[in-house]
Amino acid sequence: MLEVFCDIHQLPMKVFASQSDRWPFSVFRCTEQGCSRHFVERHGYHNVTNELMDISTQTLKHCPAHAGAVAITAIEESTLFWNCIHPDCEASEPTFEVCSR
Ligand SMILES: [Zn+2]
Ligand SMILES: [Zn+2]
Repeated sequence: MLEVFCDIHQLPMKVFASQSDRWPFSVFRCTEQGCSRHFVERHGYHNVTNELMDISTQTLKHCPAHAGAVAITAIEESTLFWNCIHPDCEASEPTFEVCSR
């Protein structure tokens, strides 16, 4: 099962809405109380305020094959691994970011 981590809290996000007719992509949401961070393919990470996407809080990374699909998919100690959320995707190279906390 794919994991997506909140880019603010480095906590695993839960699937808030699965892919369906209404939602072309699964919506992930942070489980931290008071955190309105969401992740959706094409839109990346963003806060949701009053059910609206807050563009000013957006963190968007692109995979060459899947627009806006790059998220934190693994964390090892203080290293964040950013990769495409499509498990079989070979177009994107994982990138690493050392977390300051
Ligand atoms: Zn969060
Ligand atoms: Zn991809």
